Amino acid sequence: MYTSDFMPTPSPFSLQGKTALVAGASRGIGLAIAKEIAAAGAHTILAARSADKLHQEVEALKAQGLSADARTLDVSSNDKVDEACKEIPDLDILINVAGTNVRKRFEDYTPEEYNLILQTNLHGIVRLTQILGKRMVDRGTGGKIVMIGSLTSLIAFPFLSPYAITKSGLWGLTRVLAAEWGRYNIQVNCIAPGFIETDLNREMWKPQFMRDWLRSGQANPRLGTPEDIAPLAVFLSSRGSDYVTGQCIAVDGGFTTTGIWPFEPPK
Ligand code: NAP
Repeated sequence: MYTSDFMPTPSPFSLQGKTALVAGASRGIGLAIAKEIAAAGAHTILAARSADKLHQEVEALKAQGLSADARTLDVSSNDKVDEACKEIPDLDILINVAGTNVRKRFEDYTPEEYNLILQTNLHGIVRLTQILGKRMVDRGTGGKIVMIGSLTSLIAFPFLSPYAITKSGLWGLTRVLAAEWGRYNIQVNCIAPGFIETDLNREMWKPQFMRDWLRSGQANPRLGTPEDIAPLAVFLSSRGSDYVTGQCIAVDGGFTTTGIWPFEPPK
């Protein structure tokens, strides 16, 4: 019943008063996530290697009246992760987006390519999560960790074996940390983006036959955008998702759950 002293409860999706770090926020999916996290009210730290781009994006967010900061972070070396973490404050929300890929036949990967993908997508993220997650545990006020996995966390595609190893690893780590840190009120979830057009794959999606293939087999037939991913990251960072943990949620236009065929039933 409405009374004059009715106070609207804050939105369960508000991130007001929270501090978030988006690792890999200089462009693509990470930047879109950082913008939405900031718009939801969190003090948002954008981290990646491209310092100039980060500062530019932070200034743009501040110009909108949002709270943001930039930190240089290179997850391709654990020593650099350790160093960067010294400059990162305690967090309520950690979103691990940084990633890279090289598409090749399994038998053709060089040790250098393999090591770069494993270190960037998995070992560096593991190290970052260990350091910043431990601080969340020690602080005792709960927290949210969101991993950006991939459809290769769930199903297989050819010619990206090291990438699939890393993304399967992140999904495994998500479940273990959800189990291990649930007692500290830390929720850990994974987003598996589908086919999202970014610098990471723009070349691959140029040929018309690739887009035609998607159109013929996916419920929502278009390529995804980074902005399609960001709202779920906000939800998984908010108190609205306090009872959601250890999940991997695909944002893929239905690719992993639907099939399309040319059959039409008679009228
Ligand atoms: P992107 O546009 O190339 O962005 C990659 C981001 O990761 C950039 O901000 C980049 O920043 C950062 N990064 C790369 N190497 C880094 C390093 N050594 N240290 C710190 N940051 C690093 O690619 P994206 O498509 O947005 O990919 C973002 C994440 O989504 C990746 O983990 C990717 O695997 C995943 N994903 C993408 C798709 C897709 O279809 N696009 C699908 C599934 C999953 P700097 O270069 O400035 O360091």
